[in-house]
Amino acid sequence: MTSPDSSTRTSSDDLGARLAALIEGVRDRDGGEVDDSVPRLAEADPALLGLALATPDGEVRAAGDSRQAFSIQSAVKPFLFALALVDTDGEAVDAVGIEPTGEAFDAIVLEGGTGRPPNPMVNAGALLTAALVDGGDADGRAERIVRGLASFAGRDLEVDDDVAGSEILLGDRNHALAHLMRSEGTLHVGADDAVSAYARACAVLVDAEALAVMGATLALGGRNPVTGEQVVSAAVARDVVSVMATCGVYDGSGRWMRSVGVPAKSSVSGALVLSSPGRLGAASYSPRLDELGTSVRGALLMERLSRELGLHVFDAGRG
Ligand code: GLU
Repeated sequence: MTSPDSSTRTSSDDLGARLAALIEGVRDRDGGEVDDSVPRLAEADPALLGLALATPDGEVRAAGDSRQAFSIQSAVKPFLFALALVDTDGEAVDAVGIEPTGEAFDAIVLEGGTGRPPNPMVNAGALLTAALVDGGDADGRAERIVRGLASFAGRDLEVDDDVAGSEILLGDRNHALAHLMRSEGTLHVGADDAVSAYARACAVLVDAEALAVMGATLALGGRNPVTGEQVVSAAVARDVVSVMATCGVYDGSGRWMRSVGVPAKSSVSGALVLSSPGRLGAASYSPRLDELGTSVRGALLMERLSRELGLHVFDAGRG
């Protein structure tokens, strides 16, 4: 693994200056609330604000608190889907649905008729994809997940055991979803095992720079632009980015595609990861969330970034 410093430039060049200006443009927005579902998240400093981009030439440009560590939370879901697709030779694509729900991320809802999770970007789907990766038991799957995430990030990653423990203890809705999927015959590992592997995946520590490289790896056909490793196939990356586009920002996904127009995933830690197909990966961190669980300043930052760099996928003048 490379050290993050070897590829990172918090630069004073044009792009670095533009990122810094974007950060300053949203700094005084103070709407939203820090998530308090687990104690460690509730302790986050609401003032933190970071932004990073990873480009096809393997450069990482960043501004603000881009090296502040936080638990990845739901931003892990696209990567769990990718790892499940790899480890099941693509069969995971039939184990979960791919339709948006219009419901909250932890809604106790499965797909009518099949008992499958509605899509891999909500909790039911991520509990299932985490259970589909190789590993034998919960510990083995969690290890495989952390290794896989490290390949996406191009650096070693660790689990925050305190966050994972709280998620297991307090994640009643995730336990309920796992038991519901067991009863429907769609989850083939024990409910506690499924929650344990998923909780540890959510508790992996990243920063905006690592997350930007992870998003870039999906955006660039599965090849990590920093390490050069082909982490997943181009077909897997395309499948994952497609589902990020339709389901990545919970029941705000439609509004997100109109305003930002870049496939993305939000998380309750206040992170956003974007995969701009063929262009770049980006990530932001700002802990205050709107009522749908998306970072308030992060969403505004990404809307402005998309406009500034011409990233909207449906913009005919994109270039
Ligand atoms: N660990 C959280 C949960 O499963 C993740 C939720 C999120 O980031 O949306 O409830």
